Amino acid sequence: METFGAVIVGSGYGGSIVAARLATAGVSTLVLERGRRLATADLRQSDDPRYIQSIVDVVVASDNVAFRTGKLVGGASIPMDGAHFRTPQKSFAATDSAGRPYWPAPYSRATLDPYYARAEAMLGIRQFGWNEISRAGGLFAAMLDAAGASCERARMNYTDCVHCGFCAQGCRFGKKNHMGKTYLPVAETAGAEVRAGAEALAIEPSGTGYLVRYRSGDAVVEVHGERVIVAAGGIHSAALLLRSRAALARLSAQTGKGFNNNGEHSFLGILPPELAGIDAYRCFKGADNAAVMSFHWFEEEGFTLHPGGGLEPSIFAGAIEAASSPVLPRRAWGMEYKRFVESVYPHRLIAFSALGLAGSHRTITVDAQGRLDLPAGDRAGYDAYLDRLESIVVAAGARSGVTLLPAVPRKLAGMTSAHLLAACRMAERAEDGVVDADCQVFGHENLYVVDASVVPYAIGVNPALTISAVAERAAERMVARG
Ligand SMILES: Cc1cc2nc3c(=O)[nH]c(=O)nc-3n(C[C@H](O)[C@H](O)[C@H](O)COP(=O)(O)OP(=O)(O)OC[C@H]3O[C@@H](n4cnc5c(N)ncnc54)[C@H](O)[C@@H]3O)c2cc1C
Ligand code: SF4
Repeated sequence: METFGAVIVGSGYGGSIVAARLATAGVSTLVLERGRRLATADLRQSDDPRYIQSIVDVVVASDNVAFRTGKLVGGASIPMDGAHFRTPQKSFAATDSAGRPYWPAPYSRATLDPYYARAEAMLGIRQFGWNEISRAGGLFAAMLDAAGASCERARMNYTDCVHCGFCAQGCRFGKKNHMGKTYLPVAETAGAEVRAGAEALAIEPSGTGYLVRYRSGDAVVEVHGERVIVAAGGIHSAALLLRSRAALARLSAQTGKGFNNNGEHSFLGILPPELAGIDAYRCFKGADNAAVMSFHWFEEEGFTLHPGGGLEPSIFAGAIEAASSPVLPRRAWGMEYKRFVESVYPHRLIAFSALGLAGSHRTITVDAQGRLDLPAGDRAGYDAYLDRLESIVVAAGARSGVTLLPAVPRKLAGMTSAHLLAACRMAERAEDGVVDADCQVFGHENLYVVDASVVPYAIGVNPALTISAVAERAAERMVARG
């Protein structure tokens, strides 16, 4: 059987960063990635759902709420929207109902700052200039100004972006500094092997390391890793551990619990006709990420607000269902609906998303047949968060003449969320989490989880940079251990 110093499952932010650092330190490294490796020229400017679902894994829970995660070599760094923020200190200080901090003691904004800096350098992150902000971003800034709130330009991992607006389809101009252009080449140059189309099925202890069983085409193959790093993303890492739990006797009972969608909630805004610049605005055009962000309410209320861009008319269906809007037809769909929206509101529709310090309200489960689900649990805390959020955002809209509607019905809040945190959360004690502060699984030496799922609670900003910093730190600790 093949043996490696490290076997890494998944090649998104967590997996690629650890692969680069371990391989550079001389560790023989194998990356197993279930998805395909695409070249820049394979990426398309298309909203065809068949294309989107070929680059993004849409996981649908049994109550029809969907979540998005990665499924390519490079993970969700390929289709993501490019916003990379350092997490404010307030998020690191979040506590549970018993007053215990979610983040283990070594973590704070200050202790992660050197790792943030390392990842920013690798990903070419810089703050956009106002001349690079799309019209949706400019109108959002004007709206906040009228409401007496502040916003700032986002920090993006795009170099020489041509603002075509197809970021979530993967950048066919090669302007996005995703894992396939940054950390993965470092890993491969240092000798790491990346096997595409290799889906890990189970992990079991073997000697001082672990055996990983994976599917490749019709074959099931086994490899041995002295160290195994699970980096299969915010949903699939917990699922893989749960499918392996018979062999991982000391796996924490917390595995899959605490799953958190980062308080993501969407709104649809109808802009006032007199807003400056509105005539030149087309709500269907512009970069996916409008590249502005408001931290105005963060310290007091624990949420951030940012606009979307490039709105597809279909996004509004949920809002219209929810609000029974008198201005748009209730059940129109497809081209008819698109034409209607284009004719009525080409200059006046805008989407917003809030991210915030909201509690968990779902769990990741795997049944005896290995089937995955994300059942909803107690929503009381989450609904209280949504109530407060909606009242503040709608009032701010009213102050600036913008009519705001929740863009999805309350029961589907978090629908299409791509910030999938905390299902293997780090903690100081196994009673509270799945991995320790170094991302090592409690009770299982040399088994790690390094990805979105170890971030222990909502952080209220886009998480990719924090996942990167945590991965940089975990890799440094692995290398130091030898
Ligand atoms: C459309 C979209 C837009 C986004 N925009 C932003 C943004 O602007 N800013 C931001 O901060 N975040 C954004 N995100 C979220 C961000 O991309 C994720 O938080 C981040 O990619 C998570 O990294 P990860 O390593 O945990 O997982 P992923 O990037 O999801 O990578 C996990 C990898 O593991 C692989 N895998 C899963 N199971 C297995 C298995 N059993 N065997 C082998 N391989 C497996 C998957 O195929 C995948 O490639 C966005 C996400 C999406 C989908
Ligand atoms: S907007 Fe920029 S980063 Fe996004 S797809 Fe277009 S060129 Fe690439």
